[in-house]
Amino acid sequence: MSKDIVVIGGGTAGARLARQLTRRTTPAAASSVRTTPVATPAVTVIGEEEHAPYNRVLLAEVLAGRYGPEVIAQPQTPVRRGVRVVRIDRVERVVQCDDGSVVPYGTLVLATGSNPVLPPLRGLGADLPDGVHPFRTLDDCLALAAAVREGTRAVVIGGGLLGVSAARALAERGAQVVLAQQGEYLMQRQLDAEAGELLRGHLETLGVEVHTECRVRGLRCEAGEGAAGTVRAVELADGYALDADLVVLACGVRPRVGLAQAAGLEVRHGIVVDDELRTSDPHIRAIGDCAEHNGRVYGLAGPALEQADTLAALLLTPPPAAALAGPPSSHADATEAEAAAAAVSAGLVAAVTGPASASLPRYTGTRALTRLTLNSRGTGVGAGPLDLAAFGETNPLPGDDVVRLADATRGAYRKVVVRGDRLIGGILLGDLGAVGELARTWEGDEPLPSTPLFHLLGGA
Ligand SMILES: Cc1cc2nc3c(=O)[nH]c(=O)nc-3n(C[C@H](O)[C@H](O)[C@H](O)COP(=O)(O)OP(=O)(O)OC[C@H]3O[C@@H](n4cnc5c(N)ncnc54)[C@H](O)[C@@H]3O)c2cc1C
Repeated sequence: MSKDIVVIGGGTAGARLARQLTRRTTPAAASSVRTTPVATPAVTVIGEEEHAPYNRVLLAEVLAGRYGPEVIAQPQTPVRRGVRVVRIDRVERVVQCDDGSVVPYGTLVLATGSNPVLPPLRGLGADLPDGVHPFRTLDDCLALAAAVREGTRAVVIGGGLLGVSAARALAERGAQVVLAQQGEYLMQRQLDAEAGELLRGHLETLGVEVHTECRVRGLRCEAGEGAAGTVRAVELADGYALDADLVVLACGVRPRVGLAQAAGLEVRHGIVVDDELRTSDPHIRAIGDCAEHNGRVYGLAGPALEQADTLAALLLTPPPAAALAGPPSSHADATEAEAAAAAVSAGLVAAVTGPASASLPRYTGTRALTRLTLNSRGTGVGAGPLDLAAFGETNPLPGDDVVRLADATRGAYRKVVVRGDRLIGGILLGDLGAVGELARTWEGDEPLPSTPLFHLLGGA
């Protein structure tokens, strides 16, 4: 049986894992664990996208025309590009690819990311009409950039992080953008109503027309080159129609779990993993947007990177000596002991002695902070860049304390939510001066002092 590590997906998590594993050093995340890697593990990354790995978070900057695709590329990660894994054979421990190749694995890592959600709209099937684009990959972004012209009528469906980023980028390209958000305000997952309104005001200064509480019912298409026709308008639930040359679907994402499901792995919303990022098959791990840890699927870059770092540390760390020597107490232990023994004999890591080797790295969850910078080329009032950061629970429950500063004229807003003696969430908009201190306090989850909490907002 192969001892190789095979990674499916060369996106944020898969590429980071491969880089960490092939650096020949123990990743920073595992710096407290003494290991002595003596050989580079054989790692194969199989990625369906044709491009070299790239920083997905910066796609809006490419769409806006600020960066060329080469600026966000991460070519130092070798990936078998343009190859899709179509099946996992857990008995033979091989994966089958759409180019006919079969790749054996010792450890398989699923880093398959997410798929954009296609909303149930009249006129929208699996074949997208011409002019309708998701916003997930560099190809999506390049197709959008090629389609947009000065004055193009663009409708963005969805007012979350992706929709807001896409609307701003298209406006910067000179499009007439309408953003249709079903919820009461923008970025409802991260912001509160007041911050959502400030964000709306900022987008409006960039020329974006924002409609909240606006439900899209369907697309009006006319016959075109493609089987699904060409989009001409977006129909709203109130009967109104928005003319459109271009429609961006930014209605959220769903973990990409099809391969895992077909292979019989435990899947709830995402692929279920434990603190060692292990799925229900001990030879298969999952990281990033496709993984569900402790009931949570994050859908954010920070957790994907942290999971990749932890998994790299785990795969480079020998288990406690007892696990190598003693009889296994459970199936998982047996597999781990076998894998560890194999790793040592394969020279992936040298066995180390001492207590440090007893503490295997663990993934215990990420306190994920969302950051967004909405750049703009304009110079008028409110047309400068807008910085935004949000974390944790930003809408208080009865009994929570809230400290808030708002300056609507200058588009600045700071708010923290405190429950008991703990900081549980916050929003900064406009001026992120206090973000480092706040993030540290939140991540540390330490009791707050009993003095008034105004200092949490930073500044004088
Ligand atoms: C435009 C945009 C902006 C974003 N902005 C932010 C932000 O500001 N902050 C933030 O935290 N997060 C942001 N995100 C989310 C963030 O990019 C994701 O959370 C992160 O990329 C997840 O990493 P991943 O490796 O799990 O998935 P991905 O980066 O999506 O990588 C998955 C890869 O697996 C490949 N793949 C899937 N199935 C197969 C298969 N069967 N065979 C071969 N290859 C396969 C896919 O093609 C893809 O390349 C943004 C996302 C987008 C699209």
